[in-house]
Amino acid sequence: MKTRLIIAAALAAASSLAASAALPKVIAHRGYWDTEGSAQNSVRALVKADSVGCYASEFDVWMTADGVIVVNHDADINGVHIESSPAKKVLAQKLANGENVPTLESYLAQAAKQPSRIVLELKTHDSRKHERKAVKDIVKMVKKYGLEDKTDYITFSKYGFQDLIKYTPKGTAVYYLTGDYIPWQIKEMGGAGIDYSLKVMKKHPEWIKMTHDLGMEVNVWTVNDPADMQWCIDNGVDYITTNAPEQLQQLLKNQPAK
Ligand code: MG
Repeated sequence: MKTRLIIAAALAAASSLAASAALPKVIAHRGYWDTEGSAQNSVRALVKADSVGCYASEFDVWMTADGVIVVNHDADINGVHIESSPAKKVLAQKLANGENVPTLESYLAQAAKQPSRIVLELKTHDSRKHERKAVKDIVKMVKKYGLEDKTDYITFSKYGFQDLIKYTPKGTAVYYLTGDYIPWQIKEMGGAGIDYSLKVMKKHPEWIKMTHDLGMEVNVWTVNDPADMQWCIDNGVDYITTNAPEQLQQLLKNQPAK
């Protein structure tokens, strides 16, 4: 009787593990910004993503002309071109929720207090030299805040991708976003997997299994429509990056047990 109970418990544990492993994890795109008091790439959005239980929060970084790493999506903010402007001018700019543009330092200080992970997107800089300095400084700062095991990196920059692989500690997950490499090329270059748009993935759904067979993972962005979220779930992707994290969490909760 006792043995049978133990077997039953072990089977239940194994099946719940299998079911949870099969469901994608939720990554808030530019933080959880589509909610009260928040804004894209604000510290508030990072806090909100964690508070609703996201697996990770994604954000974008640039380096100012005088070498300060800041968090913002576009190359410009309020007409100020980040890469060619001094930090003083960039950091004076306001986000939609009234916060000033955050430094990477303030972002990491907050991330260090939260259990959830971060996904740092290195933007493609005009100057390759500037971009390489950004990579080196980012890696140093992530280490300073004890976040090496909690940080994944993504980029559209080919050089940035190579530099991130080169300068981050061995085993750090670095993903390339553009979608123009097939999974085995990513593997060969030292990437952790593919992190491609929904459009690319729908064109190449076979890349999901191919990536898994190569021992790598699949992230899909930016998935906001429930039907597309379901497509990602049904096709077994590992991570979904979304502007609607709570909606995705609800959908994941409602999946039938496997
Ligand atoms: Mg991004």
